[in-house]
Amino acid sequence: MNNETIKQRDLAVVWHPCTQMKDHEHLPLTPIRRGEGVWLEDFDGNRYIDAVSSWWVNLFGHANPVINQAIRDQLDQLEHVILAGFSHEPVVKLSERLVQITPPGLSRCFYADSGSAAVEVALKMSFHYWLNTGQGGKTRFICLTNSYHGETLGALAVGDVPLYKATYGPLLMEPIPVTAPDCYEREPGETCEQVAERRFQAMEETLARHAHETCAVIVEPLVQCAGHMRMYHPRYLELLREACDRHGVHLIADEIAVGFGRTGTMFACEQANITPDFMCLSKGLTGGYLPLSVVLTNDTVYQAFYDDYTKLNAFLHSHSYTANPLACTAALATLDLFERDDVLGNNRRLAQVMRESLAPLADHPHVGDVRQHGMIAAVEMVRDKATREAYPWQERRGLIAYQHALKRGALLRPLGNVAYMMPPYVITEEQIRFLAEVMAEGIDLATAAG
Ligand SMILES: *Cc1c(COP(=O)(O)O)cnc(C)c1O
Repeated sequence: MNNETIKQRDLAVVWHPCTQMKDHEHLPLTPIRRGEGVWLEDFDGNRYIDAVSSWWVNLFGHANPVINQAIRDQLDQLEHVILAGFSHEPVVKLSERLVQITPPGLSRCFYADSGSAAVEVALKMSFHYWLNTGQGGKTRFICLTNSYHGETLGALAVGDVPLYKATYGPLLMEPIPVTAPDCYEREPGETCEQVAERRFQAMEETLARHAHETCAVIVEPLVQCAGHMRMYHPRYLELLREACDRHGVHLIADEIAVGFGRTGTMFACEQANITPDFMCLSKGLTGGYLPLSVVLTNDTVYQAFYDDYTKLNAFLHSHSYTANPLACTAALATLDLFERDDVLGNNRRLAQVMRESLAPLADHPHVGDVRQHGMIAAVEMVRDKATREAYPWQERRGLIAYQHALKRGALLRPLGNVAYMMPPYVITEEQIRFLAEVMAEGIDLATAAG
């Protein structure tokens, strides 16, 4: 078996996600045979550093010995069981630990099997809470521009990345959008904190006008990852928490991408010292091993559903693989690794190396911004550095950088004109410097044609 034979068989039967399949007439598909640590190896023996953590899920490397062993042990005990009326040890342990490590007040765990499904749960639970407490007029959601919350219809509706959303517009409920506090859009001399405060005025006005019909505000704390890694200051979350309380509206924190240390703290909300009413987690939850997601909420929400059966107040939502024991075990092993090693401390050192090695790119004539939040670092390519005029998307500049990186042995899949790294935490300083070098070469190539 080599790359070519797998490729041909694949393209005969597989439909790939987020892909125009016709691209594969000229773009290579990379079949992976095995993974180890930050490395992925294809069928011809070429190796690639997984600099995007396989779409932001992997935390401690591929084929991690600790997580592998935990799953093997669990496999011999119980692979899966219905969670309605039944329970198992991994889900109990995991829930206890999640309640312990998430912001204070989050005391209940409701499980699903993907990030999108967790967002659906949070939206439905928020609406249903208001219904159960006599405020059924609350049916809408406030979201930020450029936000991303997943692909299922509810999650897609409260997102705002046109590339994913526009086509399905006729199928979607209509949220109330508020301009994001994106620090890329700062005025000359303005700090990210000032952008956050200035942009919060629109949120305050929207809440004042729409609170009576609004269930919740949903945000991605600190980094809008799918929205081209745009970042904002924690001050916005502080103001938002206070305003949501004042206006009687829930706050949903979608930490599916930023949770588990990506922004420097275990959860991004910690940097604003806030507790959301709902926190959605997935991706890194299982260390990138198995599909699992969870929505944490507080006792007030829980009690609004706790009643006699005949009142029909219960949250009757379920997924076949809710809290799969193997996935919960992978999550427990992932939390063990956080506890065993000083992961966040070590990441601070790695993040500093990311910062230093990408800093020279700020002077590149076609780089409009170099930004970073913890272990997420992004470089925005622009046509005109002074005005930050973007390259037209049709030119697909990022693709040139992507292909160059593959040739050099790095998986650096960009988002449009934004190159970024969001590596597994087991990466070395030397590997980060190598990635920065490859990224710089790729940006040179991608921006060379005028
Ligand atoms: C990836 C992502 C989702 C969707 O998760 P899936 O598991 O892909 O359904 C939702 N919100 C954010 C912020 C994400 O990054």
